[in-house]
Amino acid sequence: MANPRNRLTDIDMPLYEYVCRKCSHEFAVAMTINEHDKKRVQCPQCNSTEVARTLQPFYAKTSKKS
Ligand SMILES: [Zn+2]
Repeated sequence: MANPRNRLTDIDMPLYEYVCRKCSHEFAVAMTINEHDKKRVQCPQCNSTEVARTLQPFYAKTSKKS
């Protein structure tokens, strides 16, 4: 019973929440940390890239470095 969906849950896909500085639209984007580094987040409503993070990302698992 190898469920392929189990593989997907292994990928860290935190949800980033943003608020648009231009139209105040709040939205969430799910992406990997790598994507978050490279990607320009755009407001889905007015396409502005002037967005600010609202909350810390939700991690499925916490990896604390000691
Ligand atoms: Zn906007």
